[in-house]
Amino acid sequence: VSLSFKLRGNSVRPWGPRRQVQALAGVSLSVRRGEMLGIAGESGCGKSTLARLLLKLIQANEGSVLLDGQPLDWYPLLELRERVQMVFQDPFTSLNPRRRVGDIIADSLIVHGKGAPAERRGRVIAMLERVGLGAHHYDRFPHEFSGGQRQRIAIARALIIRPEFLILDEPTSALDVSVQARVVELIQELRRELDLGCIFITHDLNLLGFLSDRLAVMYLGRVVETGPTSEIFSNPKHPYTRALLAATPSPDPQRRVQRIDLEGEIPSSVNVPTGCPFHTRCPEKIGTICETVRPALARRGDTQVSCHLYGNQEHARATDAVGVS
Ligand code: SF4
Ligand code: MG
Repeated sequence: VSLSFKLRGNSVRPWGPRRQVQALAGVSLSVRRGEMLGIAGESGCGKSTLARLLLKLIQANEGSVLLDGQPLDWYPLLELRERVQMVFQDPFTSLNPRRRVGDIIADSLIVHGKGAPAERRGRVIAMLERVGLGAHHYDRFPHEFSGGQRQRIAIARALIIRPEFLILDEPTSALDVSVQARVVELIQELRRELDLGCIFITHDLNLLGFLSDRLAVMYLGRVVETGPTSEIFSNPKHPYTRALLAATPSPDPQRRVQRIDLEGEIPSSVNVPTGCPFHTRCPEKIGTICETVRPALARRGDTQVSCHLYGNQEHARATDAVGVS
C-alpha cells in the first residue's frame, strides 16, 4: 500500500471555496506504509499545498494523487479519511472548544462507524492513555490543556480509526522545543506500532534528519532534491539544501558546516524566476544557463537533484521549460 503523487504541468487549482494556493510543478513523490517521508522548505514553498492535495482538500490541474494505485477521486471521501488522516500545526484551533476531548476523539469512531457504542468510551480512554494522557482527561475541554497536550489529543483523534497514512503539517512548530521533542517521539512510536506511512512537513530540516527515512526539499513549489535522508545529510547536492542545512545548528558535530547566507527574500510564488527558480539567491550560480533553463530533477547516485551543477540540461529543456503563472 502506498500513497503517491505526481504532478506535471504548472499549477494546482483550488477545490471547493476559491482560495490562493502555492503553485506546484513537477513534484513526484511517494510514501509506503511504515515509512516516514519528510518534506522540508521555507514558508511559501508549497509544503502545505502538497498536504492539502494529498488530503483532497484541493485538486491538481494536471497530474494525480494515487492511493494504492487508484486516484483519490476514485474513493468515497469517508473511505479516504479512514485511510489517510492528518494533524495540523495549530493545536489551538483544530479542536472544537465546546466539546469534551473524549467526545472529540469518539466522534472520529462514530463518523466512521467503528466500534459498538458500549465499547467507545473504553477505546477512547485506551487511546488517551496511549498518547500520554489519562482517563480523567476524557471530560475536560480543550482549553484546559497545554499546546503539547492538545497536539496529543489531535494525534489520538487521527489515529483512533487506525488509518494507513498520516499527514503531519508542521505538527510541532507551535510548541516549545522540549515539548516538541516528546511529541515527535510519540509520533515515531505510533508510526512503528501502527505501521503508519507518515508525511512529516516542516521548515525544520534538522528535525527531519533524525525523523525521516526519506526526504524531499522544496523550493517555490518544486522538489529540488529528494532521496534517503542519511544521504542528503551526508552529501547534500543542491545549493539550497546546503544552505538550509547550514542555516540551523546541528547537534551532530560531524554535520556542522559553515553558515551559508542566502541573498534576498524568497521570491513571490506567483512570480517564480525564470530558469532555475533558485537562481536569484544561489551562491553557486554558474551563469546564464541558471537564469534561462529550468533544471530537471535528475538522478545522481541515490538522490535526485534539480541543478545545472549536475548537468542534464537537455532533458530539462524537453520536460519543464514552462514557467509557473
Ligand atoms: Fe544554483 Fe544554477 Fe543550481 Fe540553480 S541551477 S541551484 S542557480 S547552480
Ligand atoms: Mg504551511
